[in-house]
Amino acid sequence: MSYLDIVSELQTAFPQPVSDRLHDSYFVFSFMRALDQLDAMKSVKPLLGQPIELDYDSARQRRMEDAPHSVEEVSEELVGYLSGMFIWGHPRSQINVGPSPTIPSVIGGLLPSIYNPNLCSDESARGVVMAELESVAMTADLVGYDPQRAGGLFTFGGTGTTLYGAKIGLEKACPGTMTHGIREPAHLLCSTQAHYACQTVAGWMGLGHQNVVHVPSDPENAIRPCLLETHCRALLDRGVKIAVIVATMGTTDAFGLDDLQTIYDLREQLISDYDLDYRPHIHADAVIGWAWAVFNDYDFETNPLAFPPRTIRSLAGTRRRIKHLHLADSMGIDFHKTGFAPYVSSLFLCKDAGDLKLITRDEETTPYLFQSGKYHPGKYTLETTRSGSGPMAALANLRLFGKDGLRSLLGHLVSMAESLREHLDSHPAIHVLNGKNFGPVTLFRVYPDDVDTFSFPDREQSDARHREQLLQYNDYNRRVFELIQDEALQGRGVVLSLTDCYRETDYGEPIVALKSYIMSPFSTEWYAGQVLESVLRARELVAQDCQPE
Ligand SMILES: *Cc1c(COP(=O)(O)O)cnc(C)c1O
Repeated sequence: MSYLDIVSELQTAFPQPVSDRLHDSYFVFSFMRALDQLDAMKSVKPLLGQPIELDYDSARQRRMEDAPHSVEEVSEELVGYLSGMFIWGHPRSQINVGPSPTIPSVIGGLLPSIYNPNLCSDESARGVVMAELESVAMTADLVGYDPQRAGGLFTFGGTGTTLYGAKIGLEKACPGTMTHGIREPAHLLCSTQAHYACQTVAGWMGLGHQNVVHVPSDPENAIRPCLLETHCRALLDRGVKIAVIVATMGTTDAFGLDDLQTIYDLREQLISDYDLDYRPHIHADAVIGWAWAVFNDYDFETNPLAFPPRTIRSLAGTRRRIKHLHLADSMGIDFHKTGFAPYVSSLFLCKDAGDLKLITRDEETTPYLFQSGKYHPGKYTLETTRSGSGPMAALANLRLFGKDGLRSLLGHLVSMAESLREHLDSHPAIHVLNGKNFGPVTLFRVYPDDVDTFSFPDREQSDARHREQLLQYNDYNRRVFELIQDEALQGRGVVLSLTDCYRETDYGEPIVALKSYIMSPFSTEWYAGQVLESVLRARELVAQDCQPE
């Protein structure tokens, strides 16, 4: 076969440059076959196909072959790789804050994959930059920023959003680091419950892991503002710069929400007390919590969406913190977490678009970005190639849901989590760790029969004399988790996850917890009952294991 034969054969594997209805249907049909094959892998189980053993060695043995393969062969093969994947949107799946993407957001993500706009320049991306600008404006308005003043961009994940926030903060505290590098120590402050992205960012930026200050958090997993103040003052007393304070607005494991109002007031006070010539930057890691901003203007009195009373209480409890989001100088937002979009759809938002000038390449030759009416985000983005998928997927869901849609979905998830907590709390062998929490996540510990769960959890938290028991019950919870997992993979019960350290005891040991993160729009109260039943069956099995021979 000559190369030209091969080229002409491969041409059928590309979308046609000129309208060709017949070939379009071939394209769509190829995709539909893949979807059909995936559909055949669905069952009552919360996963596609069967759980698979990962064969790392044979994966490393693969080599590129000489002969091409057909579109059909390749796509069928690709489908196989999804075998064993959890279906996040399955009501038997309560694993983590990974949502099942909506159909429009999938299409929004797919269209740019066909035409490849590069969101670094207007010339390449054309109208797709409007999708980014519109998503930025809509989201800025949602979180309480002035959309005329705010700016933002989609980047490579929640960690990317924190990186942008910290970089701008560093440039404010130590002007010129973009040019000269870092010449003096500068610190990143966050809570002990903050995401490890803070560490990553400090490491990659050259601030150094050692210059991350982890401020202790309270039992609700929010930063302790008075300790934040102590740490800030200790740094400033020594003349050390504060590059950024990261407020976590929805922690990954327990939906803890920092008190931004107090953090903001503290920052203002520090500026005046120390006569600072910079404003320590406040970045809100709101990748999870942002979505609750749809409740900022919900009328809780008349409750037009008819949420049940306890759900209203939870939603209002979250709003109490989220309504202060606008006080942050910048924030990170993940549409691929609580926005039901496919990976990656992360938005970095700046309260004042002018802040983006601090990270703009080549200040001299770059005209002021936001007066010329041109956009050209590539002048300040870290990336030189940016996909249009993130903003298109985000825009798709903002349009699909409207505020009422997102309110209803979140309200439903929260209400399901409440029902789960009620089921779990009803059993004396189970202790819910975040019972007062307002989010969709529930952390709980399971104990053997003889433990008094009314008093023991407090004692194991605070009293080092219970260290042995604590560690023993950590193992016990790991075992219960494994059994629940086994059962769920057979289509009974629910897939949960395990947290190695919900928090530390007062004497420094990790507290293991089981975790339910309800994200499926198909969740019903029945599945909450299923979780409890599965936990109880697992307890029985463990008890049998432990019978003396
Ligand atoms: C998930 C998460 C991150 C990291 O975001 P990715 O989108 O996964 O990169 C950062 N902060 C918090 C609080 C998170 O939950």
